[in-house]
Amino acid sequence: MHSRVLLAGGAGFVGSHLADHFLEAGSEVVVVDNLITGFKTNIAHLAHEPRFTFIEDDATNSESLPGAFDLVLHFASPASPPRYLAHPIETLHAGSSVTEALLNVAQRDGARFVLASTSEVYGDPSVHPQSETYWGNVSSTGPRSVYDEAKRYAEALSFAYRRSFGVDTGVIRLFNTYGPRMDPDDGRAVPAFVKAALAGNPIPLHGDGSQTRSLCFIDDQVRGIVAMAGSHEPGPVNIGNPHEQSLLEIAEAIIRLSGSTSTVELHPRPVDDPERRQPDITLAQLLLGWSPLVNVEDGLNTTIDWFRNERSK
Ligand code: NAD
Repeated sequence: MHSRVLLAGGAGFVGSHLADHFLEAGSEVVVVDNLITGFKTNIAHLAHEPRFTFIEDDATNSESLPGAFDLVLHFASPASPPRYLAHPIETLHAGSSVTEALLNVAQRDGARFVLASTSEVYGDPSVHPQSETYWGNVSSTGPRSVYDEAKRYAEALSFAYRRSFGVDTGVIRLFNTYGPRMDPDDGRAVPAFVKAALAGNPIPLHGDGSQTRSLCFIDDQVRGIVAMAGSHEPGPVNIGNPHEQSLLEIAEAIIRLSGSTSTVELHPRPVDDPERRQPDITLAQLLLGWSPLVNVEDGLNTTIDWFRNERSK
């Protein structure tokens, strides 16, 4: 067990579930989050917890926090295309200065460090499915580069700290993750579809909906991250669900499971929108003994229920 965890980005979607996990496991958890894309409501239920501290600040200031931490988790970055396109400089900052500050904390305290990287380092991939040995097809100047290249730099920095200073770094590449506490307005497919379906509005589909995504439920994702945190593996390791579906299939499943009368509405595709995404998770299975357990229907039902309850609040 980790006794004291520094969790940057803990008021976000994935981070808040990690906070729940580590508190349940008995750790002390310090969340640093500047709320650029996160919400206090995601961690409001933890306010009474004596082992939980929330610091509203930029994670670069984590270096001034008193140690010692034995685990540093870097989950602080705008993550959805509309959010990182709206905050391009802040996203590059999250990949660069924030990563360096958190690595410095891990070096200072001799802590395990885990970087949340992304399948977007593969860009619009020319190999399928994507394994960690694939180097990617990424534009360094396109609009999405603020996210892709920031993460690629963050990975390079993590590996440099391991090689130069012996820091116990681990890089995981998250693929599309969904579940309760996703921001309904951040433009990602599942929350956008669920929100529209519950309101009976048309479901916004980009292109003809044939582009694919592989959706990983948050509980599976958290188990994968925790397995990586508990190991000394450097990575990079893909954590995602290989079950590939077209966006149209996902939209239709959400309409069916939510009992909605919505229809789909086609919109132009954004620049650099990847055609296909599917993780090869052989490495995660081999090194971490991890594979996803939640089927899409169960995960979507849980997500739809959460959004329904939020709407009625
Ligand atoms: P999110 O936007 O819900 O959470 C990110 C959190 O980081 C937010 O609370 C935000 O306020 C905070 N943050 C951003 N910059 C910060 C800074 N400089 N200082 C302090 N806090 C800052 O996004 P998420 O979906 O929870 O993603 C979490 C991490 O996982 C991100 O690094 C993201 O790139 C990565 N990731 C997520 C997915 C996914 O499907 N959700 C996929 C791939 C990678």
